[in-house]
Amino acid sequence: MNQRPKIVVIGSLNMDLVVKAVRAPKRGETVLGEEIHFIPGGKGANQAIGLARLGAETTMIGAVGSDAFGVELMKALQADGVNTSTVKVLNSEATGVASILLAEGDNSIVVVPGANAQCLPEDLDRYEGIISEADLVLLQLEIPLVTVEYAIKLARKHGTPVMLNPAPAQSLSQDLLSQVDYLTPNRSELALLAKMAEESAIDQGIQRLLELGVSCCVTTLGAEGVAFMELGTSTLANISGYMVPVVDTTGAGDAFNAGLAFALAQKKSIREAAEFAVKVSALAVTKFGAQGGMPSLAEVEAYFR
Ligand code: ADP
Repeated sequence: MNQRPKIVVIGSLNMDLVVKAVRAPKRGETVLGEEIHFIPGGKGANQAIGLARLGAETTMIGAVGSDAFGVELMKALQADGVNTSTVKVLNSEATGVASILLAEGDNSIVVVPGANAQCLPEDLDRYEGIISEADLVLLQLEIPLVTVEYAIKLARKHGTPVMLNPAPAQSLSQDLLSQVDYLTPNRSELALLAKMAEESAIDQGIQRLLELGVSCCVTTLGAEGVAFMELGTSTLANISGYMVPVVDTTGAGDAFNAGLAFALAQKKSIREAAEFAVKVSALAVTKFGAQGGMPSLAEVEAYFR
């Protein structure tokens, strides 16, 4: 078994600007905020850090601007040993930013993709060798869809398994879905992809995605855990979530994807991988922040001993 799997993450890097205020401003109004936090994020970077903490040899392909946020995001990845020589640094674009206002128990978010929108298909050609040698390629939907499509094509050309976390929710073509080995929607993403009116019909949604050609669909169900099914099987499998003291569920999905990708790249079965990912994500929600909450392998083993 490959103890240190090689995983390539092709995705976003964002700086999350989290502002807390007593209330949200009305149109044209200025209010005083109480706190501001600059938190490294982006689904791609979060999942890359999650993988590196678990012990994967992780390469991040993406793009940042040549500004202070870009420097911070790269530092965060490097601190966990992620290979960032494959991240493009652009003078022409700002680093991606998610501006998050927390007020009155609600959040409102504006995402400016910036450099992430310049993570382009042609960038991947340079890294075809890395993609061909990887045990798995992990993708999300915060970079241009054409890049995701091209990444899948390159990975398949070399027989590298592809895992797609279809977040944020977006409709996808059957052509794309049929080339995905592991698809990991949460409830609302599943409903959108399977064109279901009801979010609760998990089994129907998963069946529908398998009919569209996905090889294995793993749907995360928040605190309830996960449901999954593989092509060629007829029963839906469930793994319950763990009861843990929840501090912050931001990035639960990212931790889950990191855990699942890590175990699958180690050639574990889908059941074993899903069991492991449920543990990784349960531990992640006991800590603050998406990247901050990503546990190491030793922490997962110690907590669930
Ligand atoms: P997303 O963050 O993408 O919406 P989910 O909310 O479905 O994803 O969470 C992903 C995984 O994280 C779940 O399948 C579960 O294993 C774990 N998780 C999420 N919330 C909790 C919770 N409150 N307690 C324990 N585990 C959780």
